[in-house]
Amino acid sequence: MHVVIVGGGFAGINLAKELTNETNIQVTLIDKNNYNFFPPLIYQVATAYLEPSSISYPYRKFFAGKKNLTFRLGEVLSIDQSENKVILDNGTLNYDQLVFASGAETSFFGMENVQKNAIPMKTLNDAIEMRNKLLQNMEKAVLTKDIRERRKLLTVVVAGGGPTGVEVSGMLSEMRNGILLKEYPELGTTASNLYLVDGGSSLLSPMSEASQKDTLDALTKMGVVVKLNTRVTDYVDDVVHFASGETIATKNLIWAAGVSAKQFEGIAPESYGRGRRMATDAYNRVNNTTNIYAIGDTSIMTADENFPNGHPQVAQTAIQQGKNLAHNFVALLKKQPLQAFKYNDKGSMAIIGKNKAVVDLPKPKWHFKGFFAWLVWLFIHLISLITYRNRLKTFYNWMVAYFAKDQSYRMIIRPERDRK
Ligand SMILES: Cc1cc2nc3c(=O)[nH]c(=O)nc-3n(C[C@H](O)[C@H](O)[C@H](O)COP(=O)(O)OP(=O)(O)OC[C@H]3O[C@@H](n4cnc5c(N)ncnc54)[C@H](O)[C@@H]3O)c2cc1C
Repeated sequence: MHVVIVGGGFAGINLAKELTNETNIQVTLIDKNNYNFFPPLIYQVATAYLEPSSISYPYRKFFAGKKNLTFRLGEVLSIDQSENKVILDNGTLNYDQLVFASGAETSFFGMENVQKNAIPMKTLNDAIEMRNKLLQNMEKAVLTKDIRERRKLLTVVVAGGGPTGVEVSGMLSEMRNGILLKEYPELGTTASNLYLVDGGSSLLSPMSEASQKDTLDALTKMGVVVKLNTRVTDYVDDVVHFASGETIATKNLIWAAGVSAKQFEGIAPESYGRGRRMATDAYNRVNNTTNIYAIGDTSIMTADENFPNGHPQVAQTAIQQGKNLAHNFVALLKKQPLQAFKYNDKGSMAIIGKNKAVVDLPKPKWHFKGFFAWLVWLFIHLISLITYRNRLKTFYNWMVAYFAKDQSYRMIIRPERDRK
């Protein structure tokens, strides 16, 4: 059996890992990047806390020596179901079973100017772009004598009050308080406003009310101006426009406000569900297909009775679906009954800043915050990294940053031809 997996994120890599000892199954893992990365920590790369290699790892190295697995660098564009064929930007591949584990991409809700001018927060490339842009704008702010221009360069608006928006705002606030005053004396006391805006009525909307309130209080104390019920409608000429008519002048709009899945030519429109996610049965098989599966962020399953509206688009859903599907492919070969997917909710958490985090556990229902929650957050994220090398590097970087009270990876590194 030849299983082709599109995407080596949490879902795809866990599926591939579980299948590497199955000699009757040949696996091809396709990804448009040659490395796996850990999205929950990209904001720490974006804010110069971690270097990119701490949270990423090359697929070929990870699977070296695994005889039944081949890695293929390429972007899947479409599929041909009648021929069981995947069409990539650099060739084609045949499959017996095809698995979409292609995740989601940033959604700008159709706002072209926002898409053109804002900084997205989805990939490692986005994180490096954000780091470069913020650091370059700080240097430009030093040079300009125009106080309004300087304010625009230093003001940051983060759109999206989910975990990413909260975490990036907290980190930027610490960066502002710890670094700006110390290392940019030329800027004097120029106000560098930091806004976190969200169209909804609370931050961290899927979390408990206690977590939402604690987060709002903590960010406000850290000097972040939180604006709820505030929906971005446009971003043009360095001005963010809101539905209320209000505006904020800034050269830094960070977009952490939404994702949607990508549609692939060759999959019928009726096979898609909410958020353009591929709708599947309880075994992650895409509706109206016989040998195509979707797992993780790109899929939506309503057959799990505890999650009739679909599972949350989080790492645990992707990991658990990847492992369950691996089990089912082996069962399929052995002609054994398949196992329906049941999500095991392990809780949710968000970090706000140094010694500050919130955690919600489902069983027993428990909310806690502060230093202990922060330690739990650090521990869970550390052990979730893909290899010991990444865990050690990240742990070392965190220790240095914690004791030195500094984010030291503040190098503006970009190709020479991008220099303006
Ligand atoms: C900034 C950020 C912070 C987050 N923080 C948390 C958190 O703290 N906790 C949590 O549980 N979840 C968090 N999430 C959500 C979590 O990362 C996702 O739910 C999870 O990554 C989904 O896994 P996946 O395998 O479905 O997709 P992904 O991990 O996104 O992997 C998709 C893979 O597919 C590849 N790919 C995509 N399209 C193609 C194509 N056409 N051809 C070839 N390859 C392709 C991509 O390169 C990628 O490697 C966060 C997400 C982001 C963006």
